Amino acid sequence: MIARIYSLYVLDYIISSNIEMLLRWSFFLTQFIKPFFLKQKKSHMRIGGFHKLSVVDYPGKVAAVVFTQGCNFRCGYCHNPQLVCPSLFKAPIPEQYVIDHLRKRQGKLQGVVVTGGEPTLQKDLVDFIIKIKGLGFLVKLDTNGSHPKILAMLLSMGLIDYVAMDVKTAVAKYKYCAPELIQESIQLIINSGVPHQFRTTMVKKTCSVEDVHSIRQSIAGASHYVLQPFIASKDMIDPSLALEEQYTDEQFSVLAARFDV
Ligand code: SF4
Repeated sequence: MIARIYSLYVLDYIISSNIEMLLRWSFFLTQFIKPFFLKQKKSHMRIGGFHKLSVVDYPGKVAAVVFTQGCNFRCGYCHNPQLVCPSLFKAPIPEQYVIDHLRKRQGKLQGVVVTGGEPTLQKDLVDFIIKIKGLGFLVKLDTNGSHPKILAMLLSMGLIDYVAMDVKTAVAKYKYCAPELIQESIQLIINSGVPHQFRTTMVKKTCSVEDVHSIRQSIAGASHYVLQPFIASKDMIDPSLALEEQYTDEQFSVLAARFDV
């Protein structure tokens, strides 16, 4: 009888010791081993600039602005060649730096503008915006409209609170991407119900008055459309535009009064 009780005691000790050992090993595994195997996914966001405070880039909001590197267009009037031409790229700003800063600005900033370059070229854009939304910020996306699939995904996931899309000229005249992609993006934005703005920079060589008529037809139903004046700068992708004839201030004012929505 005593031998039986003793053997049960030994068995119980072995089982409980093993459970305890198992628990200890589980703890060890989760604390020390797991990080080696479950490394955080590396972000491929290429961030070429970060403005910590802006009151002009997100209508009615105080926002930070993230500038992504890379663009599939080469608009002559573009003032950001360092975000467009790979030979001018600087070392990207780590995504974690941006996220850490935004975390510190919770409750102080209202939104984050993600602009470019062209943000929809970024492989990890959706993940990046999920992180920003997770911190409680509104997100405004600036896009050239060439990637409607990414735009559709962002809109359908409720990740975008404001979209601004440049419409460069009459949709049929696009040369850097298929006109159908531009029209698809326009339709997605209008149908999304998300606050939006379409805008056209008035460069005489690429956008005639007839082109603006055509744009207005393409964006029928849009709640906001603005013409922007061409502003010459030595940093433009095509500095020769500064030497060409452009709309005068008076002509621009007349066009804006006629076409702005
Ligand atoms: S204006 Fe916009 S779309 Fe055009 S080249 Fe510059 S970043 Fe790209």
